[in-house]
Amino acid sequence: MKDKMKIIPSVHSGVTEITPDKQALLCKLFHFKALRPHQLAAVSAMHAGRDILMTVNTGGGKSEAILGAKLLNPEHGLHVQIEPLRALQGDMRDRMAALGIRVEVLNSDLSPLQFSTALQKIKHGAVDCVLTTPEQLEKSAVFHALNEISVSFLAVDECHCLVEWGGEFRPAYDRIGSFIQHLDSRPIVAACTATLTPDAEKKVRKSLHLRDPVRICGSIDRPEIRQLAVEIGTDLTDRTLIRKERFSRLKSVLKEYAKDGSVIVYCTSVTQTREVTEWLQRKGFDAEPFYAALPHAEKERIRQRFRTEKRIIIVGTSAFGMGIDKSNIRLVVHMSMPLSIEDYWQKTGRAGRDGKKSISLVLWHRLDFNINAAIVGYSGKKYKKLQRLRDFLQCNQCFAQQLRNYFGQSEGKTCGRCSICKPKF
Ligand SMILES: [Zn+2]
Repeated sequence: MKDKMKIIPSVHSGVTEITPDKQALLCKLFHFKALRPHQLAAVSAMHAGRDILMTVNTGGGKSEAILGAKLLNPEHGLHVQIEPLRALQGDMRDRMAALGIRVEVLNSDLSPLQFSTALQKIKHGAVDCVLTTPEQLEKSAVFHALNEISVSFLAVDECHCLVEWGGEFRPAYDRIGSFIQHLDSRPIVAACTATLTPDAEKKVRKSLHLRDPVRICGSIDRPEIRQLAVEIGTDLTDRTLIRKERFSRLKSVLKEYAKDGSVIVYCTSVTQTREVTEWLQRKGFDAEPFYAALPHAEKERIRQRFRTEKRIIIVGTSAFGMGIDKSNIRLVVHMSMPLSIEDYWQKTGRAGRDGKKSISLVLWHRLDFNINAAIVGYSGKKYKKLQRLRDFLQCNQCFAQQLRNYFGQSEGKTCGRCSICKPKF
């Protein structure tokens, strides 16, 4: 039997908790009443010079956890934080600036002049934190500037990207470990994300050359999200009829749950995204389509609408969502079978960040498996993940228990609310 990951709600043995004075100082800065257990564990470990590997739900105060040690040690060298997307960098920059941190973003948006000015500021010690991408770290000028001033803390946020995006898509992810090794003085390394399977965790540890990291693990449970899955008519094979049933299910769930918040409807392809959007618009819903190939300005317009309007439906491919931090998403619908359990849980997890009751619904048909297999390939890791996702949807066990199992946590009790626990909705 697989070893179950131990959940560490408080400070790992062998690490001394930071003093109450220091905790009070951070609480004042963050406007918190108290640090949450995983935040205290992370700050204490990094303050004591230990690497950390942290999995905590989005919205769980991850940023404060990884910044705390730098804030307690302002005299130390730079805090470098790797964020995969511009949207995440912008969000982090604003949060850091609000804490009085002098922050520079190094990314491909900068002009050559802006870039060299930023590097000069870093070299002259006028910067506390640098937000950047793995690709930027590969530039010789960046390496030398950072090495010269010395990096004390290096945080790899959304470290699941190492597993999902390493290799061909963003090979620079595979070289962060080597960047760390080449620095004259090795920084304390923090890797964090929302969820990691045991296999993905092994890859992250190895790739970043983590040194006996303190493993901090929040529960993956999101009791505020009711997880539902509906298999579209098993007797249906006609694509038009399958689509019709998906649409009518979507309509009824929207009528019921989209009254007081936003909705994301995930589609597998751009074609499906357009079809669903047009159908919703015809039915009088306020829906916008989102996919990678849209012009930049159009994507920005939609993101802006999504950020600022309370009730809006975004119909999108996977290109939509990462870096979107909106709290009142009441409903996430998967119009077809997702590609993996990770894919499902990541998208589902965007619902209910305000802690209020929310719904996640998968509308799947057995033929989706073949369509997805054509996308991920008929063998290899991605295919196995797709099979696991299909098993997850077909299995007659509580979704929350299956997820805990999959992510290496103890199975625990049934949730009492998912499609398996309470089939009628
Ligand atoms: Zn359940």
